[in-house]
Amino acid sequence: MGIPLKLRAFFNLRAVRYQMECKYCKGRCIKAGFQKNGVQKFYCKACKKYQQAVYTSEAYHPQSNYRIAALLREGIGLRSMARVLRISLKTIIQRIRQIAGTIRKPFHYRKRGVYEMDELWSYVGKKSNEVWIMYALDRATKAVIDFRVGSRTKKNIQTLTGQVLHREPKTICTDGLNIYKSLVPKKTHCTEPMSTRHIERNNLTIRTHLKRLSRRTICFSKSMEMLEACLKIYFWKGERLW
Ligand SMILES: [Zn+2]
Repeated sequence: MGIPLKLRAFFNLRAVRYQMECKYCKGRCIKAGFQKNGVQKFYCKACKKYQQAVYTSEAYHPQSNYRIAALLREGIGLRSMARVLRISLKTIIQRIRQIAGTIRKPFHYRKRGVYEMDELWSYVGKKSNEVWIMYALDRATKAVIDFRVGSRTKKNIQTLTGQVLHREPKTICTDGLNIYKSLVPKKTHCTEPMSTRHIERNNLTIRTHLKRLSRRTICFSKSMEMLEACLKIYFWKGERLW
């Protein structure tokens, strides 16, 4: 039983008829029953993992994670992504969490630069539940140094200004928000209207590139965790995805 002989020939599965090499440890696998759809399952005695010889699900494509990350940064919502990639929504959400979990905040060596800080309005769940995305940008490299998601409290902004002040900045450009005045030394602080033009432009780019942040749509974040995960992928996942 299992895969019909004709199909076996089609997939060139003669080699896996009796045994198979383990995908993980190159050990020997033995047959171990069938999946619900009738595909032969194998079991590796060495590493105790179950596996199949051939996977037809798109989620098992070696580049599926890269595709998810790439589409996420192109203004595509999760449900559209599920339809395009033919992967279930549940798997997409799981993978986004997984990808974001592997991303570490990049370490920038540059010091004494000009930094811009701003906040971006959004909401989680419902419009009354507003959430701010606060972040700091290096003007020369346009690299996002760090970001926080939450309410515009002194505590949240202080963690960001702390990161920037650690770099001995020449100037920190912010908008007129009062909290900054108590956190940034007067000598380095600049609140002129045009001084934050780079980060303001960047806000527009983020709003076009992340579906959940675009204006006049019905797309929004259902959880803070996913919003943070998407921003992490957007800001810090490398450019070369494919
Ligand atoms: Zn193994």
